[in-house]
Amino acid sequence: ALLQQPQASTMPTSKPKQSSLHAQYFSIQDIESGLAAGAFIPYFQPQINLESGLLHGVEALVRWHYGCQIIMPDHFLPIIESQQLILPMTKSVIEQTLKQMISWREAGLPDIQVSINLSAAYLNQLNLPQLMTDLLQEYPVNSSHITFEITERISLESNQPTLDTITRLRLKGFYLSLDDFGTGYSSLAQLDRLPFNEIKIDKSFVMHALSSPISRVIVESSVALAKQLGVRCVAEGIESQACEQFLKDSGCDIGQGYLYSRALPSHAFQQWALEYLKKSS
Ligand code: C2E
Ligand code: MG
Ligand code: MG
Ligand code: MG
Repeated sequence: ALLQQPQASTMPTSKPKQSSLHAQYFSIQDIESGLAAGAFIPYFQPQINLESGLLHGVEALVRWHYGCQIIMPDHFLPIIESQQLILPMTKSVIEQTLKQMISWREAGLPDIQVSINLSAAYLNQLNLPQLMTDLLQEYPVNSSHITFEITERISLESNQPTLDTITRLRLKGFYLSLDDFGTGYSSLAQLDRLPFNEIKIDKSFVMHALSSPISRVIVESSVALAKQLGVRCVAEGIESQACEQFLKDSGCDIGQGYLYSRALPSHAFQQWALEYLKKSS
């Protein structure tokens, strides 16, 4: 059915705005040529240590440069995932991210933790442990500076090869984060199956922590759970100082959100980080 959707050339001449672009506007051919042209580009959103206020790291978030528009992942990931294009896209995002880590280092940024998102259900086809070993020879960064954020849109329960792949990444020294904690399949059961180092509380709870008593309790108990398990706790979706204060008071380790910055292109992130380091040192 996707193949029958309108091609770029048959789209209305007045281009829809970013927010009104939906998956059905894109054909598989659009995505394949975007991949071939290197048009799927990681942007970087800072993560802040809530206790010290220092820059902790950054999350790589992919954007599609489509003509003069920037398309957000929610509009193309479902097609990419349904068409097995997730493997070349993941590879491209990882390689570009490693390249940027080297150039940030050359620009004088201290080493930071870099998080990369993985769609767990498709991992067994990408030999990621081997791929990472090969890539780190070309881009010499320490595996302990890379965190893989595992997102589960379908259950991994019966997918032993994928569980093994993820475990092998941990054995190679990469860090593992359970993304979107509290939603979908990213739940307590996964903590028991995989050697996670970090829980990432979903922004749907963080953003409503001050207005919804249930969200507040979910955030507080997720932080408490992380403490009990001895893993790092990250809150995404911090938009206000009041929300930041609440997370600090709850004992959450790391914060991420528009309060600090949106995801930025690599060079803009580098500028942002150098400024931030000056302010926070
Ligand atoms: P995620 O991994 O949970 O990433 C966090 C999302 O929350 C990002 O959306 C980020 O821009 C957004 N966000 C962060 N702080 C705030 C805030 O303060 N307010 C609001 N309203 N939003 C905030 P984004 O970039 O649209 O990415 C959406 C999802 O797409 C990601 O959710 C992740 O699941 C997926 N994704 C992004 N990049 C990749 C990738 O390279 N590979 C894979 N497999 N998935 C990716
Ligand atoms: Mg993530
Ligand atoms: Mg998340
Ligand atoms: Mg999310």
